[in-house]
Amino acid sequence: MSVVHDILILGSGAAGYTAAIYAARANRHPVLLTGYQPGGQLTITTEVENFPGFREGIMGPELMDRMRDQAERAGTLFVGAEATRVDLSSRPFRVWGDDGSVHHGRTVIVATGANAQMLGLETETRFMGYGVSACATCDGPLFKGKRALVVGGGDTAIEEATYLTRLLQEVTVVHRRDTLRASKAMQARAFKDPKIRFVWDSELIEVLGSDRPMVTGARTRNLKTGAVTEHAVDAVFVAIGHKPNTDFLAGQLPMDERGYLKVEPGSTRTLVPGVFAAGDVADPLYRQAVTAAGTGCMAAIDAEHFLAAEDHAAQAARETADSSGTRTR
Ligand code: NAP
Repeated sequence: MSVVHDILILGSGAAGYTAAIYAARANRHPVLLTGYQPGGQLTITTEVENFPGFREGIMGPELMDRMRDQAERAGTLFVGAEATRVDLSSRPFRVWGDDGSVHHGRTVIVATGANAQMLGLETETRFMGYGVSACATCDGPLFKGKRALVVGGGDTAIEEATYLTRLLQEVTVVHRRDTLRASKAMQARAFKDPKIRFVWDSELIEVLGSDRPMVTGARTRNLKTGAVTEHAVDAVFVAIGHKPNTDFLAGQLPMDERGYLKVEPGSTRTLVPGVFAAGDVADPLYRQAVTAAGTGCMAAIDAEHFLAAEDHAAQAARETADSSGTRTR
């Protein structure tokens, strides 16, 4: 049998790194599988202005480098692999990496995150972090007094559009149908908002920008008439849904219908004792770096409590066996 680690952490975003910092400082020598995008979603953003502690803001990749360095300094062992398969049906738990490695853990913290669904346009990728964003709360304040386009017709899109009107001059919502999917209450608020303009039955076909690169506009096409319209905007927010990275956990951990892991309310405990979930992989609502870091901390503490209780029980069992051995000798 290979080494059984106390804590295996899957994922290297704010949740995974924070869990690693806490687990390492508790002397649990965590092993962290980084996943296919070391540093997670923040590595594809630019300025992060809402993470506490950085008065002037910090670049997303730098923030993640700092978290990684802190986790490493505390004693985390990093494995540059993506978890592709797990067996959580018996202990120690087993995790297979895409590099062929197999890892055994007494506990597992799943912090594999979620990815914003994107449209797949070449220009959307090119301007990502330079005017194209999937998070209005994160990036909206960078465009104060300017104009933005929001793609989508669900609760996220309408909530983001409404949020943006508090900061921006004008928000154009582009939706592929002529009715919104968002809740009636959110729709009513958006329809009343003079700063929100709707472009119905349309799709985004191109993000326009300068070479710097910075977004200067966007092109949409009406799906019924084929008419192409150019919009002068400084930012494009894509709000067409998120997908948690849980495909590799199918059949192993309970999830909701969208694939988000279920945890006991107020904790990071999944329904499998010894397996914890932190960050966006279990959070369809807040999805912020700071909330991911917070639940990463909670997961490490939950795992530590679990291990300590198990260690304590094992110690008590040894003492009972020793004392009954002494009596029969
Ligand atoms: P969603 O409900 O799945 O809506 C996605 C929207 O994006 C839909 O309007 C969809 O159009 C559109 N869309 C999907 N793929 C597209 C594509 N390739 N091109 C163009 N448009 C596309 O996702 P969500 O808005 O992120 O919400 C997810 C869940 O979280 C929902 O259950 C929602 O109620 C919940 N949520 C709740 C709140 C809240 O209560 N405050 C806030 C945010 C989210 P169609 O309508 O044509 O399918």
